[in-house]
Amino acid sequence: MDIKNVVILGSGPAGLTAGIYAARSDLKPILVSGSTPGGQLTITSLVENYPGFENGILGPELMLKMQKQAENTGVIFEDGTVVKVDFSNRPFTIFTEDKQFKTRTVIISTGASVKWLGLDGETRLMGKGVSGCATCDGPFFKDKDIVVVGGGDSAMEESLFLTKFVKKIYLVHRRDEFRASKIMQDRVLKDPKIEILFNSELQDIYGENIVEGVKVLNNKTNSINDIKVQGVFIAIGHTPNTEIFREFIDTDNNGYIKVHEFTKTNVPGVFAAGDVSDPKYKQAISSAGLGCIAAMDAMHFIEGLNPKV
Ligand SMILES: Cc1cc2nc3c(=O)[nH]c(=O)nc-3n(C[C@H](O)[C@H](O)[C@H](O)COP(=O)(O)OP(=O)(O)OC[C@H]3O[C@@H](n4cnc5c(N)ncnc54)[C@H](O)[C@@H]3O)c2cc1C
Repeated sequence: MDIKNVVILGSGPAGLTAGIYAARSDLKPILVSGSTPGGQLTITSLVENYPGFENGILGPELMLKMQKQAENTGVIFEDGTVVKVDFSNRPFTIFTEDKQFKTRTVIISTGASVKWLGLDGETRLMGKGVSGCATCDGPFFKDKDIVVVGGGDSAMEESLFLTKFVKKIYLVHRRDEFRASKIMQDRVLKDPKIEILFNSELQDIYGENIVEGVKVLNNKTNSINDIKVQGVFIAIGHTPNTEIFREFIDTDNNGYIKVHEFTKTNVPGVFAAGDVSDPKYKQAISSAGLGCIAAMDAMHFIEGLNPKV
């Protein structure tokens, strides 16, 4: 089996950017696309904060352009998903459902998945009022009434950020107190735009083609409250896609890959980029930037290999 220079796992902004840089460095990268070619942006509508598009661009269109650019630079795409890795021996081995690759370096850019509640309305009205990212979509909700679901720090942070735009926020949390840090809670509790609904669970998000309202169950009284809103932000966390790496790669308590110097993992030659190693910023542009760094780090690592195994 020939030994590849670099195998990139994932085809979101991080993986595709890593691919473009690695291909232009003549590393002949293999990129395994995963079950969601294009990554998370393929489930959203307008992206207004990715530089280069003066009127914004639809998420799927942006990812198609990135994919075409990667193809044009020489990235070799492999369909399928990585099901197993072996980082205990060099060269490393990557296993997809039906193939194996031996490689000198690996870039993990498998992203993170937003945790959803699992309501029908979530999928049906995704990008039509339902969002998983306040930084990305907040400005679309100027002077609107919205619901935010969650009780941790990220729900507090997203709510406070959203107060810049919206008229009113109903913050829905299923318990009678928040998990968030005291300082974040205090800021939320004091904010006049935020009404907190404790002991409350989102039961339904309704609307024909756009969010028109939600049904909220009070789990103490069993009563259902119908609230007219134009937006719903789900802020109950993310799950980084790192399960298959954890035998070899250090992760934090929430499963995010730990990195030093931006992209280096605890295994020399294995790099991580994008949401998979970023519990904080989680943006397409920051993921793309880290993808670029990971590819350059992989190139320097290969240059330093002696002998070139
Ligand atoms: C609804 C929504 C709207 C958003 N809007 C914006 C926005 O407007 N602006 C913005 O900057 N950001 C936005 N974001 C955030 C942005 O999408 C992410 O920050 C970005 O996509 C992260 O890029 P990534 O490459 O790290 O990972 P992802 O985009 O998550 O891509 C991960 C890739 O890894 C693949 N993969 C996973 N597991 C495996 C495996 N085992 N083997 C092989 N491949 C695998 C997946 O198929 C996918 O291709 C939004 C997110 C969501 C959910």
